[in-house]
Amino acid sequence: MPKGFPMSQAAPLPGPTMPHHEIPLSRPDISEVEIDMVVETMRSGRLALGPMAERFEKLVAARAGCRFGVSVSSGTSGLHLVMRALGIGPGDEVITTPFSFIASSNCILYVGAKPVFVDICPKTLNMDPGLLEKAITRRTKAILAVETFGNPAHMDAYASIAARHEIPLIEDSCEALATSLGGRPCGSFGRVGVFGFYPNKQITTGEGGMIVTDDERLADLCRSMRNQGRAIGPDQAVIDGRHNPRNVGAWLRHERLGYNYRMPEINAALGVAQMRRLDEIVLKRQQVADAYMKRLMANPNLVLPTICPDTLMSWFVFVVRLATGYTAAERDSIIAGMRNHDVGAADYFPCIHLQPFYREEFGYEPGMFPIAESVSQRTIALPFYNSLSQREVDIVCATLEVMIGRENLRRG
Ligand SMILES: *Cc1c(COP(=O)(O)O)cnc(C)c1O
Repeated sequence: MPKGFPMSQAAPLPGPTMPHHEIPLSRPDISEVEIDMVVETMRSGRLALGPMAERFEKLVAARAGCRFGVSVSSGTSGLHLVMRALGIGPGDEVITTPFSFIASSNCILYVGAKPVFVDICPKTLNMDPGLLEKAITRRTKAILAVETFGNPAHMDAYASIAARHEIPLIEDSCEALATSLGGRPCGSFGRVGVFGFYPNKQITTGEGGMIVTDDERLADLCRSMRNQGRAIGPDQAVIDGRHNPRNVGAWLRHERLGYNYRMPEINAALGVAQMRRLDEIVLKRQQVADAYMKRLMANPNLVLPTICPDTLMSWFVFVVRLATGYTAAERDSIIAGMRNHDVGAADYFPCIHLQPFYREEFGYEPGMFPIAESVSQRTIALPFYNSLSQREVDIVCATLEVMIGRENLRRG
């Protein structure tokens, strides 16, 4: 751009008047309701430790069928607090899945414990309950289960295994808000559950998370640790948004090692508005998932998601996988081809145990969890969000099919 070129004459950014035709992998659904609530909160002057976070906590806890909700700055920080609150530390083992977003396992590392992976069931993509029970040792301090891609399969089985062995079940429900199994909502199967509200989740707060539990002591510990280890209860520093006049020293007294994992009020306001629209959001996502299912059902090159009976799905992502026999290189080439045609696609998820720092630290090697490894090299996440139209679903599927066809041709 020549010096002094007036900005107003620069090429307009893509916008409503000049659409560009990329179909992204995900996109949040923000309506005027959300915008109004956020603006109202900004005008209120209360930007931290205020009433919005509490409202949001009550809404999410109720939806998850739990007594208490503790809002936090992310799903990851929520998982970290849960590890601390359960007293998990060096020398302890926590059983978990290798087929997940890395945060579900990293929280075990944060407290110096060891993640013990068990392989997954090839249909549901969650931990195989039989293998899980066999992996329990004297050192096992907890089971950390993930509803991968929002699928709640086996959560009831994990809960009974945990109960039988008298160890807590931690539910990483970051992908499963509003999903239920046998009428029981995700988040309520474990001693404690954690949700995440990053912009690609069912609902978003920008960044944010929520711990849910029926255990009041555990909730209080998490509340204290998210707020720099300050006291909770009648001694707490801030009551109803005001510094506690009966306890002048409370703000700068720290009873335990804590963090700043609080959720800002602006983010909580966004969350409250999204929760009000949750049923509408879940329904829209179901319609998009149905459209994909219908369109791709007959394709012999693809395996579609398996949803077990008794499941009410709240779809997080729509992940298909190539039939057995396709290689990781072929899958990556299909994803690259789709991206080159402005269609979002991603390799959800590479196995956690094969991430470089896990291999180095714990000696994990390829071949240790063959089902997770085989599945993970053939998965393709497709664009998935509330406003995705039937026409766009058709474009995504046609592009996917062309790219698969190109790989088939290359093989001869
Ligand atoms: C999204 C997600 C998290 C938390 O992510 P944040 O970005 O920290 O909110 C944790 N576990 C799983 C399985 C997730 O998908």
